[in-house]
Amino acid sequence: MNNGRFTLLKTNEEVKKRITELAAEISRDYAGTPEDNPLLVLCTLRGAIFFSADLIRGLTVPCEINFLKVQSYQGTRPAGSPIFELGERIDVRGRDVLIVEDIVDTGQTMDTVMQNFSDKGANSIRIATMLDKPSRRYEHLKETVVPDYIGFEIPDLFVVGWGLDYNEDYRMLPDIMVYHPEEDTES
Ligand code: 5GP
Repeated sequence: MNNGRFTLLKTNEEVKKRITELAAEISRDYAGTPEDNPLLVLCTLRGAIFFSADLIRGLTVPCEINFLKVQSYQGTRPAGSPIFELGERIDVRGRDVLIVEDIVDTGQTMDTVMQNFSDKGANSIRIATMLDKPSRRYEHLKETVVPDYIGFEIPDLFVVGWGLDYNEDYRMLPDIMVYHPEEDTES
């Protein structure tokens, strides 16, 4: 059982307002996208489901939706190299790809995904992330993993809610909360 303490970081209203702004910005940037080669929007499972649902509904350009599964965290600790599960079956050749991520932390996950899609011949690859923790970025990824659309930049905190979990709990919290796990004495 998780016995943690929560503090509010972003309210539901703040997140929704920001998503509306991001959707407008993305729609402007991809204006002119043809119906016969729509923007390929890839939602990373499972943390980005709520963010991407709201973001995609705000887009005014033709888009196709698919999902990626990348597992990288266990509890509040990175699990090591991200494990890339569904992306192998997605054909990105010649496509403009928008990866929708919940949070970019060390940058490892997005680096793996972008390299994979670049190798497979995507026409362009951009990242939209609800949250970004730039202070946590691995040194060698600081120049290369730079999200194109960022909901909020946040400090080095472990957050839950709006799709983000702690060991599968708290995804459904309507606000973005900082989580301080009681038993995690090393942090
Ligand atoms: P990265 O590969 O950039 O280190 O990690 C990205 C992934 O780690 C995110 O998609 C997310 O699943 C997880 N992650 C990173 N920081 C947090 C956090 O503060 N809270 C939660 N719940 N997950 C996080």
